[in-house]
Parts: sequence; C-alpha cells; structure tokens
Amino acid sequence: MSDASQQLLNAALVELWPQRVMDANGLLPPACDENAGWRVRDKSGGLFPARITAQGEFAWCPEIAPPADPAGFRSAALERLTAHTELGTTVPLDDLLSCLDALQVDPAQYATRTGLRLLPEPSHLHFAGFDRYGRSLWLELHTALAWTRMLAAAANDGITLEAISGFRSHRYQLGIFRRKLERGQTVAEILQVNAAPGFSEHHTGLALDISAPGEPAAEESFEGTPAFEWLTANGATYGFTMSYPRDNPHGIVYEPWHWARGHALRAAESF
Ligand SMILES: [Zn+2]
Repeated sequence: MSDASQQLLNAALVELWPQRVMDANGLLPPACDENAGWRVRDKSGGLFPARITAQGEFAWCPEIAPPADPAGFRSAALERLTAHTELGTTVPLDDLLSCLDALQVDPAQYATRTGLRLLPEPSHLHFAGFDRYGRSLWLELHTALAWTRMLAAAANDGITLEAISGFRSHRYQLGIFRRKLERGQTVAEILQVNAAPGFSEHHTGLALDISAPGEPAAEESFEGTPAFEWLTANGATYGFTMSYPRDNPHGIVYEPWHWARGHALRAAESF
C-alpha cells in the first residue's frame, strides 16, 4: 500500500496519477499510455491532458483538450514531480485562499460561523481500491490502510461496505461553486448546501462516504442497513467515526454515510 507506484502526487492545480493504477481501471486509451510513468490531471477540469514518462519527460496527449493555461500546467506538473515533499506534508494554501477571495468568502469568518476548519490537502494520497462506480479511491496512507482492513473485517462478518467517494480536492469543491454560480445562484445560497472550498473533510483524504450494495449514495436511509449497524459497532476499532450525527453543532445535515478518521482530523493543524 505504501508502494510508490500506488501513490498520487498532489499539488494545488495538478495531480500526478501513477500509470499503474490507471492501467488497472482502463480509464485511458492505450495509445496514450506507452512508457508513461504518470498521468497529469487538471484538477479544475478533471481531465488528464498530459503524461510524464518514466524518464521524467512531459508530453501532451493530443486527443485530450489542453488546459486553460498550458505553460502553467506544465510547470506545475514538473515542479510536483521533482519536489521532495515528505509523506505527511500538505499542499500550500495560496491558491485556495485566492479562490476564496474571488468568491468573497472570508475563511476566518466562515470558520467562526460554522465551527468548521480550513483543511489543507495532503501532498500524497494512496490508492485504496475502487469505489462503487469503478473509479480509483484515493485516501491518506493510514486511512487507506484502515479502510482496507475494515472492509475485510466487515466481509468476514458477512457485510459488504462500498466506498462512494474519498479524497476530493479544493478545486473539485470550487468546481461545484462555479457551476452553480453560472446557473445564477449566489455564493450565500450555495453555502447553505455546500461547504466552502477548503472546509470539507474530503480534502484531507481522512474521510469517505460509505454505502452498501443496492443502497442509494448519500441518503439517510443508509442508517437502516446492516452495514450501518456494523459500522456503528465496529468503525471506531479502525479509527472511523461519523462526522455529522443528528443535530451536530456545525449545522450540517445528518450524514450517516460520512465517516472519517476523526482522531486524525482533530489532531490536524488548525488554520
Ligand atoms: Zn462525505
């Protein structure tokens, strides 16, 4: 699991996905995959317009539309590849803070109002298998290990847990805001439903949404399943707690599907 070929190298604007993981789920046309060590993902658009070979050479994938700022994208990718970040370090917040500024969201005021904290992204994420939809599930290293162990223990008890969503970036959350703004909603209206970019536990790789076969994703009905009962009894053994129980102090709706390594989150640095 700590195998470097299963590690995602994360930066503010780009993610470097190991080719080996991409090969495993057939996300890309094979013509683009030859000799590639990494696929470079544009965090804003979600596409993979470039690759970096095992020899460290950057190349565009012609069949995929280039990002808005190709030069900036290329240098962000190469910078992340050569950066000597240690496991456990986080991505600088400059990009997020300027995005919040553009949305006219004051992070300190928002934190005070909601009791939520600004949460940086980890500089490394680890492959934790596939989610319900066959997408790669990325989590912080110890969370990936704990999830894998918990999944096996549940299976041993005849319970199938399904991951719905793990790591989600600041830029992903920002994309939700941009789409809703384009549809004419105001920032204040969006904030009633979505956490401000930077304030979702999914940014840390310590949280994931869980469901069970045949159950809809992110629905309160999950609380009536044997999978939920199993999680309630055993989740803490693996460090997982439900972040948003009924009547939580953050004013977030009851989310029986959202579990996080709460201990690690509470220990995370406050902003
Ligand atoms: Zn969640």
